[in-house]
Amino acid sequence: MSFTVAIDGPAAAGKGTISKAVATKFGFAHLDTGLLYRAVGRRTLQGMEPIAGAQALTAEELEQGDLRTAEIAQAASKVAVIPEVRAALVDFQRAFARRTGGAVLDGRDIGTVICPEAEVKLFVTASPEVRAERRFLELKAKGSDVTRDQVLSDVKERDARDADRSTAPMKPAADAVLLDTSDLSIEDALAKAVEIIEKSRPAKP
Ligand code: C5P
Repeated sequence: MSFTVAIDGPAAAGKGTISKAVATKFGFAHLDTGLLYRAVGRRTLQGMEPIAGAQALTAEELEQGDLRTAEIAQAASKVAVIPEVRAALVDFQRAFARRTGGAVLDGRDIGTVICPEAEVKLFVTASPEVRAERRFLELKAKGSDVTRDQVLSDVKERDARDADRSTAPMKPAADAVLLDTSDLSIEDALAKAVEIIEKSRPAKP
């Protein structure tokens, strides 16, 4: 039986942490769909044309090297505006979503475009300042020499590009539950997500 949890929202709102924890708790598979766009973005930084890069993408590439750098994030959001790039990544995401045993996918357009029929849809958000601070601390911990201001302006630039694009813009599905994590600890945010998912889960026989 398949059961899909779609978790969308802007960068560093907490979707990744919530998705991973929810997947572990319920025994679902997890796909961070941002990695697909990041892997295509990395290919463009290596000189490849984005549409060809998306069409030739392999699942193994998602595991190779560090895709979570600021430079790759910007490249990802640039390739993500190209409709043919998005189209090349749809089948992989849909097949993942309907796998037996349940799946959590996090991204920007999971509840709206990839899995409009998902059993649970969450839109996880937080203020740009809170998100930038979280991302700043993450990047710092990895040894990056970014500044807070740089991270905040990157976050805002990426939000604008993701929300304003004409194909699959970042937005909550009409039936998504909004979860603002600005003033929540990770434990509280996770508890709320779990409560929402529990309500939609089929009762155990
Ligand atoms: O989630 P993450 O920050 O890793 O995503 C990197 C970029 O990939 C986003 O800024 C967005 O432009 C793009 N993306 C997307 N659709 C998704 C996931 C990510 O357009 N489902």
